[in-house]
Amino acid sequence: MATDTDPDTQLIENYQPFFREDLLKDKVALITGGATGIGFTIAEVFMRHGCDTIIASRKIEKLQKAAKALEAGTGRKCLTVVMDVRKPQEVIQGVEKMMSEFGKIDILVNNAAGNFLCPASSLSFNAFKTVIEIDTMGTFNVTKAVYDKAMQEKGGVIINISATLHYKGTALQTHAASAKAAIDAMTKVMAVEWGPQGIRINCIAPGPIDNTEGVRRLVGEMAKEYSNAIPLGRMGTRKEVGDSALFLASNASSNITGTVIVADGGSWMGGSIMETMMSKL
Ligand code: NAP
Repeated sequence: MATDTDPDTQLIENYQPFFREDLLKDKVALITGGATGIGFTIAEVFMRHGCDTIIASRKIEKLQKAAKALEAGTGRKCLTVVMDVRKPQEVIQGVEKMMSEFGKIDILVNNAAGNFLCPASSLSFNAFKTVIEIDTMGTFNVTKAVYDKAMQEKGGVIINISATLHYKGTALQTHAASAKAAIDAMTKVMAVEWGPQGIRINCIAPGPIDNTEGVRRLVGEMAKEYSNAIPLGRMGTRKEVGDSALFLASNASSNITGTVIVADGGSWMGGSIMETMMSKL
């Protein structure tokens, strides 16, 4: 049988669970941007713990390929839904389709995002707007639709994939840093408003994660220099983000809401190679 060499849909080799393998048994999780990279691996880790998933993004071919790999690798069900998180009507229809298939959504992971390197001086009005629309407004759109149609009545867990870009002034990231800062703020407000309804909402802020489009695009050939600047001396793995998401999705974190788990090997506090990266532009 031919091996899949597409890095986006590579399953974890020899997965060793930290938690009980029935931790999410018969739960249903929606992961936006779940056909690639970090989102794909979060879906995989959830499915390895008994969860059925829905992966949602814009391109049907990518979704179908990912769902096939996930189902074959885990034995759980993975539904695909085509939707652009920027478009509320598409999101509402998508969530209705999910509800008619599963009757519930227990866990939502807002992972879909767009990013690129660009100094503020060259950033077009449209480029800034697009990132805010996908990351911030997309997170709001999907969260609102899932709240209205699923979690308002039954409660649930929401995990927003954020970043550490806004903790310091990360150069070339005006757009993404602003978008993720707004997501962190939204998380806190919703945690306060929806806690009484049994909804927990938290963020994971990954640092640079190996074998992702984000790192291929943003770090590229400077991966070694980048890793050396991280206190733990290496980038994170997709599996590590998946395991952090599993912790937040499960009752292992039942008293945690409105917070951000920074999973970055100490990266944002350590040295910066941004000046070197800027000099390469
Ligand atoms: P990725 O593979 O590029 O994943 C992004 C996903 O979002 C894709 O599947 C894409 O699918 C989907 N998407 C983009 N625009 C969309 C839209 N308008 N509607 C619906 N889906 C859309 O990126 P990644 O590197 O794994 O990153 C995943 C998350 O982690 C992001 O939130 C990112 O900001 C965060 N993060 C990543 C790193 C890292 O090192 N990689 C570090 C910190 C934070 P389609 O294009 O097919 O729609």
